[in-house]
Order: sequence, then C-alpha cells, then structure tokens
Amino acid sequence: MLLKGSKLFFIIEGIITVVLFLGFIFFEYPLIRNFLKSYYISNNRLFLLIILHFSLVIINIYYLIRMYSQFKEKVIFPINKITNILQKFSLGNFERTVHYPWSNEVGDLSNAVNLIGKRFRELFEEHSFLKENFYEVINSIDEGILLLYNGTKIFYVNKKASEFLSVSQENIKGKNLLSILRNYELIKEVECALNSGEIKEVNLNFIRKEGSYKVIIIPVKENQRVLSCILLIKDLTFIKGLEKIKTDLIANISHELKTPITSIKGFTETLLEGAYKNEELALKFLNIIDFEVGRLYRLIIDLLNLAEIEAGKLKIKKEKVSLKDVFEELGFLFKKRFEEKKLKFYYKSSVEEIFTDKDKFMQILLNLIDNAVKYTPEGGSVWIEAENKEGEVLIKVCDTGIGIPEEDIPRIFERFYRVDKARTRESGGTGIGLAIVKHLLEALGAEIKVESELNRGSKFIISFKNSSQIINNQ
Ligand code: ADP
Repeated sequence: MLLKGSKLFFIIEGIITVVLFLGFIFFEYPLIRNFLKSYYISNNRLFLLIILHFSLVIINIYYLIRMYSQFKEKVIFPINKITNILQKFSLGNFERTVHYPWSNEVGDLSNAVNLIGKRFRELFEEHSFLKENFYEVINSIDEGILLLYNGTKIFYVNKKASEFLSVSQENIKGKNLLSILRNYELIKEVECALNSGEIKEVNLNFIRKEGSYKVIIIPVKENQRVLSCILLIKDLTFIKGLEKIKTDLIANISHELKTPITSIKGFTETLLEGAYKNEELALKFLNIIDFEVGRLYRLIIDLLNLAEIEAGKLKIKKEKVSLKDVFEELGFLFKKRFEEKKLKFYYKSSVEEIFTDKDKFMQILLNLIDNAVKYTPEGGSVWIEAENKEGEVLIKVCDTGIGIPEEDIPRIFERFYRVDKARTRESGGTGIGLAIVKHLLEALGAEIKVESELNRGSKFIISFKNSSQIINNQ
C-alpha cells in the first residue's frame, strides 16, 4: 500500500512507459519499422505516430516531475522530520510531534513515532515526578541514607547522612564509600554484607562524632548477584540519653523516697516497741516523723508540679504585675522564717510593673527566697533588687549565705542535684525547687543566671529580655 493516493500515478506512468518502450523499438529498429510501414502504416500515420510519441514523452516528463515533487512532500520531508524528532528523543526531548495528514505508510510511521513520543513523555514526567519526590522525601527523613552503586561507590547521600559523615551532598557521587568512612568496624560490615548478601546491623559509639548510632546495611541484589548496598544510619544518642535520664530519675526518686520512709519506719518501730511510754522521747520522735512526712509531701507536690510543667500543661496568663506588691507579699509570707533565723529582708526596685503571669512569677520567687533562707546562716541578709538595664528587666534574689562552689553552678538546676547532699536534706529541701524555677522561667520567656561566692553569698539573676514584658521603667 505504498503511497495509496499515488496508485493512479503508477498506472498512468506504467502505460506511458510501455507505449514509449514500444515507440522506441519502432523508431530505433528500422527492420521492424520498414516491415510495419510496408504492410500497415502510411507516411501520414507515421507522422502522427511521431507526434503522439513526443506528446507521450512530455506527459511522462510531467508525471515524473509531479511524482518527484509529491514524493518529496509526502516521503522525503516527513522522513527527514521524523529522523530529526527521533534524534531529539535520544536527547530526552519528547515534546515534538509529526503532523502528517495523508494516510499511507509514512503516515503510519508518523503515528507510531507520535505514540512512542507520547509514551516516553508520560514515562519521563512520571520518572521526573518520582525522582523529585523521592529525593525530597529521603532528604527530609531524620535518618541518614546512603545509596551505593557498583559495590561501594556512592550514588547519593541524604542531608542527615551528610551531617553524620561530615561530607557535602554535592560532588559526592562516584566517590568510594571506604574513602569516606573512617570507621574500620563499619567498613568490615559493609564488605561482609556485599560478600554474603545478608542484611547487617552495627551499633557504633562514633561515626564522625561521639554518640549512639545504629547502622543497617541492606544489600541490593539483581538476579541473586549483590550489586551494592543501602546504608541506613540511625542516631540513637537522644533516645539513649532519654533512657538514661529515665533510669537516673527512677533511681533518684526511689532514693529520695527511701530516706524519709526509712526514718519514719525506724522511729515508728521504736515508738511501737515501747518508746511511746516516754512522753518526752515520743514527742521528739513524732516531731521527726512529722518533719519527714512533710518532706515526703513536698517532694510529691514538687514532682507533680514538675511533671505538669514538663508535660506542657502549663497555662500562662499574663497581666500587669506590680513588683512592689509582689515583694511586699513575699516579705509577709516569709516574715516568720526571717524572724526565726534573724535574717534581714529588704527590696529595692527601679521598675514599677512587668507584664507576666503573676502566679508563676510568685512561685519562682518563693522557691528562690526559700533557698536563700535555707542556705543563709542566722543573722544574714536576704534582699531583692529590680532594675531596668539596656531594655532588660533584671530581678536579683540575693543572700549572704553559704554560697555555691563554681563547679556546681551549672548543675544546680538539674532535678535532685544538691551541692551538699547531707546538709541540704537536713534543711528539708527536695532538690527539685530550682528545676521548677528553670522550667517556669522558660515558659515565661525569661532566663536565669547565678553569681555566687563561697561563704559570702549568692545572687540569682532573672532577666526578662522581651520588651513586651516591661511596662513601666523609671
Ligand atoms: P533544694 O530543695 O535542695 O534546695 P533546689 O533545687 O532548690 O533544691 O536547689 C538545688 C541545690 O542548689 C541546693 O540543694 C543547694 O545545694 C543549692 N542552692 C540553691 N540555692 C542556694 C542558695 N541560695 N545558696 C546556696 N546554695 C543554694
């Protein structure tokens, strides 16, 4: 069905060619001509035959030219175009199509090329979409991923893996993994996974920096042959840290509870064994039991408070708070304890009001003044200063107490951390007060720092940095 539309051309062209061939034989071979002339053709007819012959030559030339121009239009040009488009396909450009309006073999070829182009375009778009999303997804994963090819050559590292290995994500393709991993144990396991084709898991305490890491090595196979592998790096440092905090916390709480309970149990047993008969002794023991029960109660309340704060259940309700009113109220609340220890209390403030949560602010100052009272020997001083310094409101709770050794200062805000364990337990402290203070200040958007000198005193300095918390400065 070559060039269906041109069939007529071929038939006419065929007839003309046959007639011309016969004419050629007639004119070129005198023997035949003479023979025909002597018997059938007159001179006039011969002339007519020559005219006819020449007319046919002209018609034939016309048809040939027409055929050639049609052939060019319908075959040569479209095929050139198809070749051009196929070359574009090979470069990954599937946008172009062939427009061929005639229905013939070239038309079928054009349709096939257009179909291939369409399918490739779809596949290409699908591939680009998957590729982009794939990299986007694995780049946002919180685990390190290394894709290898040809054994141990790096194909891709995601953001986390580049952090773990301290390498850049760019220009990494093609580098050998073994030249990047400085960990012999991991290199050995990668080689082992490549040889055996089995998934391997390695726990490491170090990759580029210290921590707890788990690396899973997954071999990539094709026809049972291991080609390369994928490395998955999980950073378990934080989880391990949390686990340690949890076990430490349980150990601390158990220890904190055990001490007063042992004491309560001991004195109760002594009373039951007969000490209750001695009124003076019984009263002394009951006072100790009361003190320990009080400590247990405070410990439980503090723990509950801390748990609530840490669970984020804290509701902050900010309002205008008059510092003078707060300091007066604190003086009143601690009046009895100041008197018991003969402590001098005063405050000086150049700031009138701040914008904060009054209850939480009071709770913070109560804890700090309670400590100041606990750790200041009789006859000392406890005071509060408030000032506005370069846009910050500073509130300092100061005492002339025993002070805190420099090396302990960074740790006193940890739960159950005490400088002098025996001494502070004696004072009835729970070891949680400053942890609560720290969390409350975080919730209020404020910070705290400590200045202290042994046997001279301590200063707990709260800073409200956010200017919205400062209302009126004198
Ligand atoms: P505690 O209930 O034991 O006082 P805190 O968390 O309030 O627990 O304080 C932690 C530790 O910090 C205390 O045990 C004490 O050793 C030290 N500390 C806190 N405030 C002061 C202070 N004003 N002077 C000296 N030491 C202090």
